[in-house]
Amino acid sequence: MIIVMKKGASEECIQKVVEAVKSEGYSPHVIRGVERTVVAAVGDERRKVEVMEKLKAFDGVDNVIPILKPYKLASREAKSTKTQIKINDDVVIGGEEIVVIAGPCSIESEELTIEIARKVKEAGAHILRGGAFKPRTSPYSFQGFGVDGLKILAKAGREAGMPVISEILDKHDLPFFIEYVDIIQVGARNMQNFALLKELSKINKPVLLKRGMCATIDEWLFAAEYILSGGNENVILCERGIRTFETSTRNTLDLNAIPVLRDRTHLPVIVDPSHGTGHWDYVIPMAKAAIAAGADGIMVEVHPEPEKALSDGPQSLKYDTFFQLMKEIKPVAEAVGRTLRTGG
Ligand code: PEP
Ligand code: MN
Repeated sequence: MIIVMKKGASEECIQKVVEAVKSEGYSPHVIRGVERTVVAAVGDERRKVEVMEKLKAFDGVDNVIPILKPYKLASREAKSTKTQIKINDDVVIGGEEIVVIAGPCSIESEELTIEIARKVKEAGAHILRGGAFKPRTSPYSFQGFGVDGLKILAKAGREAGMPVISEILDKHDLPFFIEYVDIIQVGARNMQNFALLKELSKINKPVLLKRGMCATIDEWLFAAEYILSGGNENVILCERGIRTFETSTRNTLDLNAIPVLRDRTHLPVIVDPSHGTGHWDYVIPMAKAAIAAGADGIMVEVHPEPEKALSDGPQSLKYDTFFQLMKEIKPVAEAVGRTLRTGG
């Protein structure tokens, strides 16, 4: 339920509501808007009506309304304004500006990671990506460099002046991710790893939650709800394509998800056209389409020699194509009322 406080309700009134929500066995989440504050309370659905009636009587409470959507904190009902997630002093995801995340699929060496970082930064990328723990389909494929890979990524990010993102596979590695990365990625294969999501809910670091390859949008929002409900409000959704009968592309990039998510959630949405298509030459058109459809940013894989890449070479952009992408998405961003800082 949502407890809507009156305009200008005092902090004391808000705290009394928060305490009452807790004593009823619900978890309170205070959402402070420009006009007024609301307290979202989640817990046992069966006692909802009784608890709502009690809370209506509190000083400073304007109204108490049920959240109809099954996922609560992720819903637009809980928060009507878009969530903006500040990554560092320079980068905000979910604001007016389109954010570009770029880098190799896997961290392969320090030298190469730093080189890629400098290049994508020069082209205008805002965040550096790189996998250190790789969720490979085959156990015989390259599995990543683990913690050493995270250290390399962090160093490359520092050298190029960019925050970094990398994928976590195992909750036991969380301390390393807290130390070395700015955004923790949950991959498609782990979208419903609820034990992992619960651990991520206990920290404050932003989490980029990729859509499971066979997940509906609602299942994806429930996965986001796991992170939000434990207290981590910094969730970014990433559409990366779903499995369909189509075999011409690696996945089917579901751009429908963008307006559907806009309707259902306040969380920012990033689109990954690299995994979405699986072919480097389809990445630019789908990146443009994603931005035109309202995505808050894109994530793309970049490698100077894709034929030698240890993973996902066929979908990786060479430097010149990445520069071209940055050039071509700018007018698309501007046409839909967004901005994009490129190169230099
Ligand atoms: C990745 O980003 O390298 C990755 C493995 O993505 P996904 O989880 O979408 O397959
Ligand atoms: Mn990849």
